[in-house]
Amino acid sequence: MTASDSRHHRDPERLKENRREFSGALELEVSKTPPTNGIDSHDAGREEVELVRRQYLESEQRFRALLESLPKVAVQGYDRDRRVIYWNEGSTRLYGYTAEEAQGQLLEDLIIPAFMRDGVILAHDAWIKEGVDIPADELQLKHKSGELVSVFSQHLMLNEHTDSPLMFCVDVDLSDQKRAHRDLEFATRFDRLTHLPNRQTFEVDMDSLLESCRCQGNGLATIYLDIDHFVEINDALGYDQGDRLLIELTRRLRECQRVTDLVSRVSSDEFVLAFPGVHLAPDVRRVVRHVQNVFREPFVLDGRECQVTACLGVALFPENGESSRELIRNADVAKNRAKLEGRGAVRFFQQKLHDELVRQHYLSARLEEALDNGEFSLHYQPQVSAANGRIENLEALIRWEPAEGPPISPAEFIPLAERSGVIHRLGDWVIEEACRQQVEWRAKGFLEHRIDINVSGRQLVRPDALKSFEDSLQRHGLGPRDIGIELTENVLIEADETVLEDLRRLHHRGIRIAIDDFGTGYSSLSYLKHFPVTALKIDRSFIHDAATQPKDRAIMEGAIFIGHRLGLEVVAEGVENAEQLSLLREMHCDLVQGFFFYRPMPAKEIDRLLGGLVPGHEGLSS
Ligand code: C2E
Ligand code: MG
Ligand code: MG
Repeated sequence: MTASDSRHHRDPERLKENRREFSGALELEVSKTPPTNGIDSHDAGREEVELVRRQYLESEQRFRALLESLPKVAVQGYDRDRRVIYWNEGSTRLYGYTAEEAQGQLLEDLIIPAFMRDGVILAHDAWIKEGVDIPADELQLKHKSGELVSVFSQHLMLNEHTDSPLMFCVDVDLSDQKRAHRDLEFATRFDRLTHLPNRQTFEVDMDSLLESCRCQGNGLATIYLDIDHFVEINDALGYDQGDRLLIELTRRLRECQRVTDLVSRVSSDEFVLAFPGVHLAPDVRRVVRHVQNVFREPFVLDGRECQVTACLGVALFPENGESSRELIRNADVAKNRAKLEGRGAVRFFQQKLHDELVRQHYLSARLEEALDNGEFSLHYQPQVSAANGRIENLEALIRWEPAEGPPISPAEFIPLAERSGVIHRLGDWVIEEACRQQVEWRAKGFLEHRIDINVSGRQLVRPDALKSFEDSLQRHGLGPRDIGIELTENVLIEADETVLEDLRRLHHRGIRIAIDDFGTGYSSLSYLKHFPVTALKIDRSFIHDAATQPKDRAIMEGAIFIGHRLGLEVVAEGVENAEQLSLLREMHCDLVQGFFFYRPMPAKEIDRLLGGLVPGHEGLSS
C-alpha cells in the first residue's frame, strides 16, 4: 500500500463517502423491494417509494442511534481493505480510539494483537474471495493502551460479491464478566484474607510437587501450623486484630518461602507448608527452625507487642504418606499431639501414634453399642487387712470383653468414655451392677465386705451424679457400709461447690470416700484437710519401688503417717511381693491390695472365696 493510498483512506471526506456506501448498501436492499401497488399510477408508485425510503431512513437513524447509545456494544465497519469506515461511541469506549483517530486505519493496526494479525487478514481475505464466513467468537483484542480487552465479537457482512464488500464487527465488552469470573475463581482457589492458596488449591499444587519429588527422588516435609490460643487473641483484641496477626504471619511465612515451597491457609488459624528437597534429619530440623523463627519477633497487635506461638506437626514424604491428603492429615495428627504438650510444641508424625488414634476412634464409636450388648462386667479385687489378712473390701473394676477380639483395659477405654461423654451411662451401669451384686452377696450371707467403685471426674460434671448414686443405694436397700467410692486427687481439687456439698453429705452419712492413686496428682497436701474423705490409696508406683528407692519409700512412709494423723484409713495398692508387704506392715499401713494377694476376679470367684470354697491367702497368717 502506498503513502498516498493511506492518506486517501484517512481523509474524513472519504470516510463520509464510505459511510454513504454503508447506507447505500442498505438502501440498495430497500430499492430492490417492488412497490406493492405501483402498477396503476406512476405518481402513486413514486410516493409509495418515497414513503418506504423515508421509513427506511428513519429506521436506519433509529438503528444508528441505538448503536451509538449502547455503551457496551462496539460497532465498527471496515471496507474491503479492512480500513475503518464506521466507529461508534461504544468502540471508542472499548478500544480507546476516538472515531476520528480510528477512521481510515487498518483493522489489524488498531485492535488486533500481533499474535492474531495473520489469522485475521487470512480470514478476511477468505471471506472476500471465497465467501467463507468469519464465525462469532470470544476474543482478546487490543486497547489503545496496548492492554488486551475481552470481547464477544460477531461479524456482519454486507455487499458481498460486489466491489465494495463491508464488514461490520459488533463487539460486546466482556470485561465485567471476565472480572467476575476471575474474582469467583480467586474466591474458590484462594483465601480472601491472606490471599494464600486454600486447602483445595494447596492439595492440587502439592500433588504435582510430590510428583516431581517422586521423579527426582526427592523428599518433602509437610508442616501443619496452628497458632496457640488464637481464640483468646480474637476474644480479647477483636477480630480485626486477629486478622492483622494472620496477615502479618502470612507475610513472614512468605518471606522464608523458597520458590518451590508451598504455603496455604487451611482454616482460621491453621496453615500448611510443604518444603520439597528435604531428605535427612538435619534438613527437617532446619525447615522446622525456619518456621519457628517466624514467631521469634513479637507481633504488634492493638499497638502492643504480643509474643505469639504456634504448635507444629510434621509429616515426611515418602515415609509418612504418598499423597498430599495423607501427608496433610498426618501432619495434622502430629500437630494435635503437639497441642497436648502446650504452647510452641513440635511433634513428628509416627505411624504408631496414628494407629493409636484410629483405634481410639474405633473404640469410642463402639462403647455405646458395647453397653447395649452387655459386653461389660465388673471384676472385684479384695483389699485385705495388712495386720491379719482378712478380706475387708472389694474394689469393683470394670471389664470390657467385646464379642469379637480380646478384652480391652479400662485404662484405655475409660479416658475415651470420659471424652465422648459415654462415661455417664457407663458410670450408672457400674453403680447399678455393683449394687445388684452387693444385694446378691448380702442375701447369701456375705455381710462383711464393702464394694468400692471408681468414680471419674467427668461423671461428677453431671450435677446430679452423686444424688443418683445415693438414689441407687436407696433403691437397692443398701446403706453407707455397703458401697463406697474412689476418686482421684485431681477430681477433688477441680470439684465445684455443689460437688463438694454432695460429697460432704455422703461423708456425713458415713459413706467411705477414698482418694485413689494418692501422690500422683496434686502436689500440695494442704487440700487434704478441706475435703470430706475417709481413706487414702497410695499409688502403686510408690509401692513398686519402695524396696529399692529410698525416696519412694520415704513418700510411702510419709503418706501413711499423714493419713493416720488426719484420721484416714491408708490403703496400699499394687502390692506384688512379700518384701513390699513387710515394709507396709512395718509402716502400719491399714489395708493392702495387689496381685500378691488377689487379682481382680469375676463375681463368681469372689463367691467361692467368700464362701470359703477356696483357701484365703497364706502370706499373712503370721
Ligand atoms: P485404679 O482404680 O487405680 O485400679 C487399680 C488398678 O491396678 C486396676 O487396673 C488393677 O487391676 C490394677 N492392679 C491391682 N493390683 C495390682 C498389682 O499388684 N500390680 C499391678 N501392676 N496392677 C495392679 P485396671 O482394672 O486395669 O483399672 C485401671 C484403672 O481404670 C483404674 O485404676 C481406674 O482408674 C479405672 N477404672 C477401672 N474400673 C473403673 C470403673 O468402673 N469406673 C471408672 N470411672 N474407672 C475405672
Ligand atoms: Mg481405684
Ligand atoms: Mg489406683
